[in-house]
Amino acid sequence: MLAERGGIAVRIDGFGYWRPNDAAGWKSPEPGSLVAYDFKPWWVVDIRMDVENRKNPGAKYTVYRLRPADVGDSADHDIHIGWTNRQYPQIINEHYGLCVHCNELLPCREMMAEQAAVRDMKNMARYETPGVCPSCEEPVTHRQTSETFPNVVVPIGPPVTFHAGRRQCRRAMEEYRVKVGQPESQLRLDGGEPGV
Ligand SMILES: [Zn+2]
Ligand SMILES: [Zn+2]
Repeated sequence: MLAERGGIAVRIDGFGYWRPNDAAGWKSPEPGSLVAYDFKPWWVVDIRMDVENRKNPGAKYTVYRLRPADVGDSADHDIHIGWTNRQYPQIINEHYGLCVHCNELLPCREMMAEQAAVRDMKNMARYETPGVCPSCEEPVTHRQTSETFPNVVVPIGPPVTFHAGRRQCRRAMEEYRVKVGQPESQLRLDGGEPGV
């Protein structure tokens, strides 16, 4: 979860951050608010502050009792979800839309997966041309300081070469190095020509 400007965007593994299309404002919810959680709409039944939890000693949770928006007054399906400090579920518009295929709030999980797949494909395309730095997508010339790695993004793709002397490319390269799991290289990396 990520708190930002008083509202929350929810991090979904593999998808990035999710924010409902029908999000309404940035205020924290009150009992009676309609909120989004786990791609579904819920009414907030009550809120308890400063709740402690053995799993995370010292942290204070705000615990929301949530009721599925479509079950009427029945408490049978209520859930209790706790957030630490300034995080809370996103309030949504009472005229919310649901996906006709899966009945989830929009963008639904399937749409998120499609968007993630498009992102992955765009990202992979950056690692498919030998001698082109995946960070800036420009060719790496022999005069430029560079470093080459095995390709772990496109396994059958060419080796991956980064500009080691360009600040942005080098930052991307260091992240890539971690991904590759290579030990710190012997190459001195601060020898990039200025302005290159
Ligand atoms: Zn759907
Ligand atoms: Zn580059």
